[in-house]
Amino acid sequence: MHDGGMATWVFLHAHPDDESSQTAGTMVLAHDRGDRVVNVIATDGTLGMAAEDLRKGETVADRRREELACAAGVIGIDRVEWLGYRDSGMAGWDSNHDPESFCNADLTEVTARVGAIVREEKADVLVSYDPDGGYGHPDHIMVHRVGAAVARQLGSPLRLLEGSFNRDMRARQKALAVKLGVTGQGFFDSDEPQDLRPFGSSASELRWAVDLPDEVVGRKHDALACHASQTSDAGFFLSLPKQLFRAVLGIEYYREPAHPGELVHGWPLEEA
Ligand SMILES: [Zn+2]
Repeated sequence: MHDGGMATWVFLHAHPDDESSQTAGTMVLAHDRGDRVVNVIATDGTLGMAAEDLRKGETVADRRREELACAAGVIGIDRVEWLGYRDSGMAGWDSNHDPESFCNADLTEVTARVGAIVREEKADVLVSYDPDGGYGHPDHIMVHRVGAAVARQLGSPLRLLEGSFNRDMRARQKALAVKLGVTGQGFFDSDEPQDLRPFGSSASELRWAVDLPDEVVGRKHDALACHASQTSDAGFFLSLPKQLFRAVLGIEYYREPAHPGELVHGWPLEEA
């Protein structure tokens, strides 16, 4: 960590809106501590949903750039860097085979580009995704591969955290969803593969749990609201009753492959 205790975080995300649904709370807490928060977005998100009010000449990628700028303001992201790869679409889509898709990009090339940003920023922490990309999306799996390659190349003292979800909490969240009569309860079935991979990690594979205070959960909600065109993803989370939103999005989980150990509820940079 730099003198003075301020740290620099580089978050590598697959699509615009992943930063809001997955790591926004950690980003807010880091920002509020005076840390520097860099968000690298791998794809243009062009296979996300098209906004109903798309203006003439405006592309899905244009709209999603605007939405991410909004979220970056809410969260307090200091720098947004777009890698510009093509969205690969969800597992099983034809676009998975497009040579231009991010999941088919040259790993050495992407690793060099992300590594250059990490070096330029003298980052202390790189955040990517777990080996299944959380739930199997090909772009998220690619983010995992890139994160692992950058960490291997740069070595210590760079720390690699891999964002994930706690599969073991899913049953409790589903029970709450049933109790509250929420639609879309299938989302909570962790044994049912999403994007052809199991959902998240078991608690024993997780290293860090970052508990978000209510105010931060509120900012995460506001960041998600910036992604208004993504009615099935961000929109689904925003449709949840407050209590369930908190249960699902109020704790952010990370694996740390280089330092395995018991799951600790706390701030990853304080315990190292
Ligand atoms: Zn994504």
